[in-house]
Amino acid sequence: MSIDDFEAYKDQCLEEISSLQKAFIELYDLNSYENWFYDHDVGAFHFYSDDDRNLYFKYIDVGSFSSRRNTWMWSWFNKTTPRHVTKGLEKVRAFGNAHGFLPLTEGFHEQSDEYMGWALTAIAATLVSGIGVYRIPHEHQYIYFIFTNELTQEEHEALVEQKNQPRHVECDSHGTRTRVAFVCQHLGKDTKVGFYESFESDPDIEPEDDYQAWCDACELERQKEGGWNEKSEAFAQICIVCDECFFEIKRSNSR
Ligand SMILES: [Zn+2]
Ligand SMILES: [Zn+2]
Repeated sequence: MSIDDFEAYKDQCLEEISSLQKAFIELYDLNSYENWFYDHDVGAFHFYSDDDRNLYFKYIDVGSFSSRRNTWMWSWFNKTTPRHVTKGLEKVRAFGNAHGFLPLTEGFHEQSDEYMGWALTAIAATLVSGIGVYRIPHEHQYIYFIFTNELTQEEHEALVEQKNQPRHVECDSHGTRTRVAFVCQHLGKDTKVGFYESFESDPDIEPEDDYQAWCDACELERQKEGGWNEKSEAFAQICIVCDECFFEIKRSNSR
C-alpha cells in the first residue's frame, strides 16, 4: 500500500469505513433506535429506543464541521473539548506528521465541507480501529464520532458514577485544587496583556461558575466575531489552571 498520496489514502479509508459501517449498523440494528444522547464528561454515546432498548458506546470525538463557516476543527484543537474524548487522535496526528499529510496535523481548516469531515473521520477510524462512525447535527455544526467499543449497562453506570466525583485540577505550584479556572493562552503570571473575565471574580466568594479570563487580543477577536465561536476560541486556545494561579494571573494582568 502506498500512502504518500493523501487523496488516494483518503479514498481508501472512506471505502473501508463504508463497508465497516454497513456491517456495524446491521449488527446493532442501529436504525431501530429513535433516540441518542452523548455526554462528553462521561465519554459515552447512548442510543435508546421507544421500547426501552439501550446501547452504549465509548467514543472519540473526532471534530466538527461548521456549515455556517465551512470550517473544520479537530477536537484536539478545540480547547473546550475534554481531553479524554480526544484520546487516540494523537495517533492520527503522528501519522499525518510522518507522511506530510497536512489535513491531519492542522487543527483548524478553512474552506472545508461535510464530505471532508467524513473523510477525516474515516482516516481516524481506520488508524484507531474504530468499530463504527457517527455524525450528529448540533446547531450549525456537525460533530463526528468514532465508536471504539460497546459498553455494557454496568460499564456505563460506572463511568457516570466517576463523572459525578468532584472536579479538581492538579497544579504544579499549588497541588490539588477543587476550583477550576480557564484562561486564554496569552495570559501568564508575568505577562501584562490585559484581563477580561466572564464575571467579577473574588477569591473570598465561592463562584457559581468556573473562573474564565482572556487578554486584550482575545477580547478584540471576540468582539470581531460577535462572541465566542470556533474562530475566537481557536485564537484564545483556552487552558485550565488552578484558582490560585488564576488570581496571580489576574494581579499581573489587571490594570
Ligand atoms: Zn488571549
Ligand atoms: Zn496553581
